[in-house]
Amino acid sequence: MGIQAVRILDGKACAEQIRREIGEQVRRLRADGMRVPHLAAVLVGDDGASETYVANKVRDCGEVGFESTVVRLDGGVGEAEVLAKVAELNADEAIDGFIVQVPLPGHIDEQKINLAIDSAKDVDGFGPENLGRMCLGLPAFVTATPNGVMELLARNGIATEGKHCVVAGRSNIVGTPLSILLSRNASPGNCTVSIAHSRTKDLGELCASADILIAAIGRPGFITADMVKPGAVVIDVGTTRVADSSRASGFRLAGDVDFDSVAPKCSWITPVPGGVGPMTRAALLQNTLKARQRRQDISNV
Ligand code: NAP
Repeated sequence: MGIQAVRILDGKACAEQIRREIGEQVRRLRADGMRVPHLAAVLVGDDGASETYVANKVRDCGEVGFESTVVRLDGGVGEAEVLAKVAELNADEAIDGFIVQVPLPGHIDEQKINLAIDSAKDVDGFGPENLGRMCLGLPAFVTATPNGVMELLARNGIATEGKHCVVAGRSNIVGTPLSILLSRNASPGNCTVSIAHSRTKDLGELCASADILIAAIGRPGFITADMVKPGAVVIDVGTTRVADSSRASGFRLAGDVDFDSVAPKCSWITPVPGGVGPMTRAALLQNTLKARQRRQDISNV
């Protein structure tokens, strides 16, 4: 079999399209005199990456016409205070959905915070009700990164049915939900999925058997050309900050895939940056719009 020319899965362009679609719906809400979606983000401490992620979310909200609120809490704040803020946001009628930016400082139990978020406002989809509903194929807020990856596959018309998909990484927010979505009887979906992790034996061999390879590990350049089947679709979720003195920021984002060696072997591949990252951001907007629609049954506006 000859290898097709590689095509770039352009998450940036795809996310722009999704934002345009959402912006249009928001304009219609406004025109009908209705309240626009409102997303809140709780930021605990001053972690540089978290600051950037939240700033991006605020900017995205502005671009599509959502309202947004950032709730800043000091890094030394106790768990009880974060839980109190979550309870306040759960009860706030003006907020459609909110996220608590992770990672939280080590003395705060992230699981406890997730469990406290009202599932109707859990637009990150990290809580058990939304994850459970997703597993059952019921309407749910699907975690942003898996949702973004599924949109990227769908909007680029990538065939998934009957394909062998290897998901490397089994985190609760990326690898595990993605493996479930890809295996479901849906489109995209109907893959035969292998989920790999740090205890997987012969990972290279397993990856090389994948028609669709999804890397969500967090190790720059981990997936090399010998681990990729000719013609495979490769989705790189990894985004690790690596020091780069040539950049004003002092770092660059590196994916889990060694792009230069892997790309010539693939049919499709996501770049980093510009692949899964923008899709994750767009998926949060989609969930926030959905939360707004559900709160007032305005899904057909
Ligand atoms: P995580 O919670 O650290 O999970 C990493 C997973 O990789 C774990 O399941 C781990 O296995 C597995 N792993 C680690 N080393 C491995 C190895 N040598 N061989 C096989 N598996 C290995 O990470 P995450 O939150 O899922 O994030 C993964 C990456 O995606 C990170 O770079 C993160 O920054 C990025 N990310 C990007 C976006 C985006 O929008 N682009 C969103 C979320 C995350 P064990 O379970 O056995 O430890």
